[in-house]
Amino acid sequence: MDYTEGKGWHDPRIVPYAPLELDPSCMVLHYGQAIFEGLKAYKTKNGEILLFRPEKNMERVNSSNDRLVIPRIDVDFGVKAIKELVRVDADWIPDAPGTSLYIRPFIIATDPYLGVRPSDTYKFIIILSPVGAYYKEGINPVKIYVESNYVRAVKGGLGYAKTVANYASSLKAQVEAKHAGYTQVLWLDGIEKKYIEEVGTMNVFFKINGEVITPALEGSILPGITRMSTIELLRKSGIPVTERKISIRELYDAHASGKLDEAFGTGTAAVISPIGEFNWNGASITVNEGKIGPVAAKVYETITGIQSGDLADTYGWTQKVL
Ligand code: PMP
Repeated sequence: MDYTEGKGWHDPRIVPYAPLELDPSCMVLHYGQAIFEGLKAYKTKNGEILLFRPEKNMERVNSSNDRLVIPRIDVDFGVKAIKELVRVDADWIPDAPGTSLYIRPFIIATDPYLGVRPSDTYKFIIILSPVGAYYKEGINPVKIYVESNYVRAVKGGLGYAKTVANYASSLKAQVEAKHAGYTQVLWLDGIEKKYIEEVGTMNVFFKINGEVITPALEGSILPGITRMSTIELLRKSGIPVTERKISIRELYDAHASGKLDEAFGTGTAAVISPIGEFNWNGASITVNEGKIGPVAAKVYETITGIQSGDLADTYGWTQKVL
């Protein structure tokens, strides 16, 4: 679908996957005016196809759009477009458990203009790709490198938007963490490098002294849909969750006093990733002997159960495509 200033969004269409033709001076290539989303379609045992809270992804599109000065897209229209496309490619979803169809909606600025200003034209595109099960042989805990040199976002910046620049700025830290033997980076706040923000592509949760804690949304972290769902389901199950500032020092102190019971990441790709180890400036700690804890296991079983249709969706989170 295209956007033209004065005309609005127009010409929605489904076309075969193919390279895009773009003007070399189109604005996205130079100024990064682009946003994207990621969600999955799941096939149930009886052949239905479900989406998990797709309206939340479209709402996040608009929040990212507002920050990047891209015109909004009607949420219902966006969800309808995703469903129509998934129907076309439904046969691509393999039957193996845990497999799904990854959906990547994105918007790029297409105006051919070599000056810094918002574009007058855009393209909203949705592409799909089948993906295998994230965990093939049981849930693996991840090893996390606490990043002290680079920062991902600061308040007032782009942190809460799902925009390309956030991922570009994270690459160097990610490469260095991988080189040191770690799976992902844990970002600290961009000013004091003191408070925990999020992991590369996940939000983070901790269970300390019986309390489930996750960093509050203060503008510099992505408001994850799995994060939101985790908070809702824990609260409904009678497990309180506190959204607040938590410093890396508090985490290490809790570990030292034997009170750090669990740490896990939440995100569309894995749903839940238990964190087995943190390394902060060379000091390494192990959480729950590197195993998944009961809170993370409960969230994982409930969310994946709802997504796969194995558990009744008492939350009204899924939408049927077929
Ligand atoms: N933080 C970042 C930076 C991410 O890229 C993602 C993945 N979209 C998340 C958190 C988790 O968000 P969600 O649960 O919506 O996938």
